[in-house]
Amino acid sequence: APAESPQVVVDAHGLPYLDPKLPVRKRVADLVSRMSLEEKAGQMTQAERGAVTAQGDIAAYDLGSLLSGGGSTPTPNTPAAWAKMIDGFQLRTQATRFQIPLIYGVDAVHGHNNLVGSTIMPHNIGIGATRDPELAERTGAVTASEVRATGIPWDFAPCLCVTRDERWGRSYESFGEDPALVQSMETVIQGFQGRANGSDLDRDDKVLATAKHFVGDGGTEYGSSTTGTYKTDQGVTKVTRQQLEAVHLAPFGTAVDRGVGTVMPSYSSLDILGDGQGAVKMHARADMINGVLKGRMGFDGFVISDWNAIDQLPGDYASHVRTSVNAGLDMMMVPYSYKDFTATLIDEAKAGRISGKRIDDAVSRILTQKFRLGLFEHPYADTGGAADIGSAQHRAVARQAAAESQVLLKNDGGLLPLKKSQKVYVAGSNADDIGNQTGGWTITWQGSSGKITDGTTILDGMRRAGGDVTYSKDASAPTAGYDVGVVVVGETPYAEGVGDVGNGNDLELTAADKAAVDKVCAAMKCVVLTVSGRPQLIGDRLAETDALVASWLPGTEGDGVADVLYGKRSFTGQLPVTWPKSESQLPINVGDTAYDPQFPYGWGLTTLTKVPAGGSATLRALALVATAADRAGSAAAGRPAVTKARLLVQQRIGTTITPATAKPFADADHLLLTGHYASAVAKLKEAYEAAG
Ligand code: BGC
Repeated sequence: APAESPQVVVDAHGLPYLDPKLPVRKRVADLVSRMSLEEKAGQMTQAERGAVTAQGDIAAYDLGSLLSGGGSTPTPNTPAAWAKMIDGFQLRTQATRFQIPLIYGVDAVHGHNNLVGSTIMPHNIGIGATRDPELAERTGAVTASEVRATGIPWDFAPCLCVTRDERWGRSYESFGEDPALVQSMETVIQGFQGRANGSDLDRDDKVLATAKHFVGDGGTEYGSSTTGTYKTDQGVTKVTRQQLEAVHLAPFGTAVDRGVGTVMPSYSSLDILGDGQGAVKMHARADMINGVLKGRMGFDGFVISDWNAIDQLPGDYASHVRTSVNAGLDMMMVPYSYKDFTATLIDEAKAGRISGKRIDDAVSRILTQKFRLGLFEHPYADTGGAADIGSAQHRAVARQAAAESQVLLKNDGGLLPLKKSQKVYVAGSNADDIGNQTGGWTITWQGSSGKITDGTTILDGMRRAGGDVTYSKDASAPTAGYDVGVVVVGETPYAEGVGDVGNGNDLELTAADKAAVDKVCAAMKCVVLTVSGRPQLIGDRLAETDALVASWLPGTEGDGVADVLYGKRSFTGQLPVTWPKSESQLPINVGDTAYDPQFPYGWGLTTLTKVPAGGSATLRALALVATAADRAGSAAAGRPAVTKARLLVQQRIGTTITPATAKPFADADHLLLTGHYASAVAKLKEAYEAAG
């Protein structure tokens, strides 16, 4: 607790809700029964921390929550400053009748990305490429411990969007285009919240998670938007009911099963073909929030709106409030309009247009999570874990994730891994830029180029790996005696919207990047790395390059990228999204009828050398193991068998991808993710045989 704060005297009022020995359910019921409508309205309100200029407003409006969001005023940049700030806000709640602690939330979407010096993980698209659920859980655990150590108990993550068109500027927040892949990475929720279904939440290294954005955010149509042309963010998702269930809803079912504490609806509208409703904003969809999420799926946490999202509903403000609360929203992120919101909510309730029952349900859901987080007993920051922020152990997890996320798309002549004896010429816009390799949602909402936080760039990593490296960003004089060129190209940071606005909103490389690739690849054997939130169009340049690596947005640990480049670890990553040949192919997703991508979903060569020898005899043996695993329903035996089979097939087909080899490969990946091991091996056999 901060020096100036009074000790919270538990049991001060002798009231049941303050008794930690009572079950949470009873504490909630007791507290709700005592609260006034005004106090309840306050609990349902979340304000932006800088907007609460008069800190007395926290008590005056009984505010239930504060946030530092993407679009917020600048945030503190040391752990101590965060803790002090939040404790200061928390102190104000002690002046209220029931001393209900507020819950503070941030977007820590790839590590504690609001804090200079924290451990920044690869963005979700890279985590999807690892195909490693256990590692995803560990990244979540590191993030949670760094976030909670600064006094923040709530994280607006993970994004469970299933990206279906990579012109969407949030594609990198997605684990991939296949819902089964997204579902498999939801182990991250246990990383955040712990494994004990809610009862770990009061630990000093756990945070409440948010499954977002419910539902269909990744499916918005290109060119459909309320706010502009050619903007896939916040637009309309048009799907059949069957597609909605299979592609977009399925990951939320998994999140509910995993006990996620909060869910955030999407800014987008949903148009279910044939249901006669047309496109309706998700924040108004009672059928989805009350009906599917809380009803059918049995979600018992609380629903938090997106930033100012209720303002996008049709009608006047009173109808925004009434419609969203009645649709099942429990807390409203109304960063600057918290006074209007609480006043309107109170009026609507008094007029009977929002029932007392609905309000009690919302408040009960919110209080349940506050009790579970232990906030009533420990409202102030427990900074015990602060010394581990950005520690070597935490960075080791991020480094492993960065390494496993690298996808080797092409590797002619086995150019990778590099040897330390080789003279290497490094060039390109993203070889030596922490800001570019961490992307959006890093230190600031949009992120920015340059040395914005601590870590190693890819160039640093190559040097630290012992490589004989010469660097020239713009590839000047790439001549004279180099063995290999490594050109690191890609995007500059962006968040939300259409992405990479400066670069033309598309997946094309910049003119400078193209020139660097051309110069280096003309002069020597070359490896191209794309550091980007989504596939980059390589087109004809693919023929110029000997090796191509999708690096995604690897985070602060460039060392991890160097690990695979220099063979300390093997490349094992697989494409989480389809890699198109041209812009005109978009949207392109595995399962499309005409599917002729540059690299199919699931593609990824390996540099592992210990691949089981032999051809179809080995495959047959693996098929037997996989069949047994299938019967036993056991991932422990099945996954390794299929992974070996995959490596065998890759070894055989190398980089010669034809539609005949690509399709079964992608199918096998899906079958593996959904636990159908025997069928996955059967598919891989098909690919093996098709390769001739
Ligand atoms: C984003 C959310 C985010 C919120 C708070 C919104 O613009 O859509 O993902 O959680 O801001 O920063």
